[in-house]
Amino acid sequence: MVRDEPPRVAVFSLGGTIASTNTPGVDGGGVTPRLAAKELLAGVPGLPDSAELEAVTFRQTASGDLTFDDLTALAAEIETRFEAGAAGVVVVQGTDTIEETSFALDLLIDAPNPVVVTGAMRNPTLASPDGPANLRAAVQVAASPEARGLGSLVVLNDEIHAARFVSKTHTSSPAAFRSMTAGPIGWLVEGRPRIVLRTTPLPGIPVPTGPIPPVALLTMCLGEDERLIEQVSALGYAGLVVESFGGGHVSARTVSALERLAATMPVVLASRTGGGDMLQATYGFPGSERDLIARGLIPAGYLDGLKARILLSLLLGNGTGIEQVRAAYAGV
Ligand code: ASP
Repeated sequence: MVRDEPPRVAVFSLGGTIASTNTPGVDGGGVTPRLAAKELLAGVPGLPDSAELEAVTFRQTASGDLTFDDLTALAAEIETRFEAGAAGVVVVQGTDTIEETSFALDLLIDAPNPVVVTGAMRNPTLASPDGPANLRAAVQVAASPEARGLGSLVVLNDEIHAARFVSKTHTSSPAAFRSMTAGPIGWLVEGRPRIVLRTTPLPGIPVPTGPIPPVALLTMCLGEDERLIEQVSALGYAGLVVESFGGGHVSARTVSALERLAATMPVVLASRTGGGDMLQATYGFPGSERDLIARGLIPAGYLDGLKARILLSLLLGNGTGIEQVRAAYAGV
């Protein structure tokens, strides 16, 4: 009888809480990322023997130190694994930037194979660390044929989230990850991934080969004026994402500065609320979404500010012109 080969899953570790431990008397008593991919896998009870695992220590850092260069290098490595026959990939990293890195991988990786990003909220020195369970669940999803074609996924706390929707919403809870606009697209039960919602494919973005131009992110707040907006160009930014009030509103005091800037670089309008789609056709006051769109700002659809900034950075990294930038946001 011919037995099927088990699916191959490559596990890339980048550091973060899940890989953080300490040596008593060193590190000022704090934990730092030091466990390699092999050590992380060795600490997971009940890993599925239905998958063949390859451990790759790719970086060992706090996730706030990751850069676009790290992500483009990781995307290229992942594509290489898929070309060599891997069924899926798990990326293990700090949770602080998972909502950004997972979305960047979603845009950069073209293959239908699952890319599953995970981490932990409780480090291995604490009671009941969540890393081993999250890593096991991520491997189970990455090895699952059902998870193909869904883009990049984020798996923590036995929930499966689409990268385009997920946010970190708590500083310490193991249930920190939520998808405010759409909810999780599935969960795990007894180690089985259950997918209940299927996302539509995102238009892919080629992996940029040169430097990625800087994109600023500004959150509008009560009483804000135009001073920061007026510095964006002088500071060398190539684009701006504005996290506006509500469905796409700013103070009337900032409108002229935003209009001037939008005549020179892409200015994308997202919401600071953390959920929902940008309005486009409701309000008419100065600084409303209708007013800002008429002045050249680009509504971000359902992308929050962090994800809208990732998209704009990668588009500009490919030298994309303003009309294609507009079209990319119109597609979400
Ligand atoms: N607190 C973070 C974590 O949850 C640290 C990091 O993002 O590297 O992993």
